Amino acid sequence: MGSVGVLALQGDVREHLATLAALGVGAERVRTPAELDAVAALVLPGGESTAIAHLLRTSGLADALGERLAAGLPVLGTCAGLILLAREVLDGRADQWGYGALAVAVRRNGYGRQIASFEAPLTLSDGTSVPGVFIRAPRIEACGPGVEVLATYDHDGEADPVLVRQGPVWGASFHPELTADTTVHRLFVESL
Ligand code: GLN
Repeated sequence: MGSVGVLALQGDVREHLATLAALGVGAERVRTPAELDAVAALVLPGGESTAIAHLLRTSGLADALGERLAAGLPVLGTCAGLILLAREVLDGRADQWGYGALAVAVRRNGYGRQIASFEAPLTLSDGTSVPGVFIRAPRIEACGPGVEVLATYDHDGEADPVLVRQGPVWGASFHPELTADTTVHRLFVESL
């Protein structure tokens, strides 16, 4: 396995580095095209998708990352990171852009303002449970063919997909980096 990077422009970068370190995976911050060249997989953190998108442009990383994604770079996007990967963003800002690398439609802040942040147990496809922290989270409203649902959240009787994967592209609407549970990062790293 080559080295894992964490896109370090904005958002909860340190938390992802700490979770990977807890798994014994030394991860590197990625802020420049040269740093992106050096990694074999990348985590896109939670934060603010429009801020990260802006910094991708100003750092010169936007096109370089697009090329790596097109070439099959394994990525895990959490929350804002998922929004940046999604094919369709509902309730996005007028100038919102993303990579369209994951065939899902997500609604920004899709769980409503009154419960914009909450914690809930999530169910993995093997039936085990992991803790979910949602902060102004995007809601995955549709999944295209080829998208595998790896975890769901029971939302008013509906099993909302909250962790999905399409080949090397993984997205979580919650923040696996904000709990002590390392399951999601472990599954991603094991897939490399
Ligand atoms: N709502 C934020 C956005 O649109 C994402 C929130 C998060 O990453 N915690 O980017």
